[in-house]
Formats: sequence, structure tokens, C-alpha cells
Amino acid sequence: MGFESFSVPEEEKVPEKKKLSPLAVVPFIFGRNLLALSVLTACNSTETEREVIEVPFSYECDTPDVRAEYKIHPEAEEQIVPVYIHLVVPNEEYLKSTWGENYEREVDDLVSKINWTFSGYYPFSDTQFGPDSKLRIEQAESIDLLYSEEFAYLFSESETKDQVREIAGEMVAGNNMNDYLNIYILPDQNSVTDSRDFAWLPGTSERPAVVSSTTTSSTIAHEIGHALGLFHTFEDVFGSELEHPEQCYEYGDLLCDTYPDPGTDFCTIDQDYYSGDVLSVSCIAPYEEYAETLPYENIMSYWGEDYSGFRHFTPEQAERMHCMLDRHDDLIYDFQVDEK
Ligand SMILES: [Zn+2]
Repeated sequence: MGFESFSVPEEEKVPEKKKLSPLAVVPFIFGRNLLALSVLTACNSTETEREVIEVPFSYECDTPDVRAEYKIHPEAEEQIVPVYIHLVVPNEEYLKSTWGENYEREVDDLVSKINWTFSGYYPFSDTQFGPDSKLRIEQAESIDLLYSEEFAYLFSESETKDQVREIAGEMVAGNNMNDYLNIYILPDQNSVTDSRDFAWLPGTSERPAVVSSTTTSSTIAHEIGHALGLFHTFEDVFGSELEHPEQCYEYGDLLCDTYPDPGTDFCTIDQDYYSGDVLSVSCIAPYEEYAETLPYENIMSYWGEDYSGFRHFTPEQAERMHCMLDRHDDLIYDFQVDEK
């Protein structure tokens, strides 16, 4: 869980003219300083240690004027994010045993579920559980079947984190479709290394991609959030929002409608054993005050599905993603997005 730095060859760094002012951060990973320009985020559900990234530039979307420009109107049209799904499997037998005879249909279902998170609607109903981001992912006409033992077992025990990053970079470099956000789905490898699911943050790679070892739609939606420029609700690479709650656009995840999140080390959620309803939330000192607004339903938090039927994006997260797609597409994506 946390952030991981990822080195890319010199020629893949963000072009100098497009870099904005650097943000001061204090990187550490096991005491090791990180200076890499390229950054990706890594997530899983078990690791609790925090790793901090060095962010190469501040985003154009982080000014009041620009934020105001991207306010989402309820009548706004949905913007399509074209995605290319790569099923990474060791062989055809594995494909059949895990994805069944009709993997296309399974992937369609997965994409529908991911879009529940983006739409904020309960499936097959008109009832909203969260804001509509006005973003929808849309699959390419085909699905890439990537047969590779090496890539399929990318997260096996023998690989260190750095090796995983390097191999993932090779996988993406060799199979990236430039007109899409590429999503690589690997065999589920429970039990193995941490940081199993990750995405490259915008501007940190010429190859926008999400790598997931799970077919859980909310996890993939979370990773897409990163790929479109969102940080965790508890992020402190820009400084802790917990210490500066009034300056929520400068600290934490740089957004204000994702309330300060002290995380699982400091907060506890009590649920009804049978219904799963959240009964109470408490946070220990010095963060008691944040219990009331703990964003456990936010898709970019590490509070899991257990606490909420479906996690969702907030309006400001959605606006940030729209802005990133619009303003940074020359930097991040080759694909042309619908502007509305
Ligand atoms: Zn994450």
C-alpha cells in the first residue's frame, strides 16, 4: 500500500517545458531517498506502511480559476475515457479456467461494474449512491490477450518491488495502445508481494496504464482514478491535510470535498454484524474531530467495500479528472477525448 517510485529512461521523462514548479516533498522508502522523475502509485489491501513519492510537477488543474472552469453541471454530457483491456495470462488453459469460455462477456461485465463507480448509480436502478462523475470508460473494439508467463506472474515472490516495476514497464512498453488508457489485468496472486495494483500518475509515463492483479471493479476504478490524476484521500506527499484542514487545496489530495482521512492506524469503524451498516466511526488523538467526516465511502480511500455498498468519486475528484483529461492530454494521453 502506498506510493512507489518508478524509474524510466531519460528520453521518457516529462518534457522540460511542460514541467511546472516542483513541489517540496520528503521522500522515503525504507529510509532510501527517491529522486526519480517518474512516479506510480501502488495499492493493495494489506500493507500498512506508507511510502512517499516525489512528485515531478504541480498540475495545471490545481488553481482556483481552473477548478472553477471544470465545475460539473448535472446536465453535462458524459465524457468517454477509451480503455484498452489486456488480459495477461500464462496460457490458454489459464484463460479458460479463470475467465471462462466467453472472456469478452466477462470483461464487458467488469467494465459495467467499473462504470457503476463512475456513474454513482446502483446497478439496474435509478437510485444514486454517489455523485455522477460524468465520466464513463469505454472499451476498445477488441481485447488484448497477452500470453506471457513472465508478465502473468509479475507479482510472484521472487520479484522485488523494483523488479516488478521494471518488468511492468516492459510489459506496458511492448503492448501499449496509444489511443487508450491501457488496463492490464493479471492473474490474482493473493499472498504475494505488496503493491500489487498500481497506476502511473499523469505525466510520469508516456504510457498511461493501470496494472491490476484483481478483477475487483472497485480496485480497478480506484487505479483509473490515479491514472486520471487523483491521489489517495490520506495522501500527504504535499504535506498533511490533517495538520492543515483549512488549506485542503494545498495539502493532502489537493481537494476539499474529500475530507481529511487519518487512515486505519488512527480510525475505527464499527459496523452492524448482519447488515454491514456503519454504526459509529471513531478516531484517536489527535484526530478525533475527523471521525465525523471520515471519507470511508470514497473510492480513493483505503476504507474497503466492507464499509459501504459502493464507493464513489466526489464532485471535485470528478472535476479534477475532467480537467486532467482536457488540459493534460498532450502530456499524458494520445487519445482524443470528447470535450463535453
Ligand atoms: Zn491507490
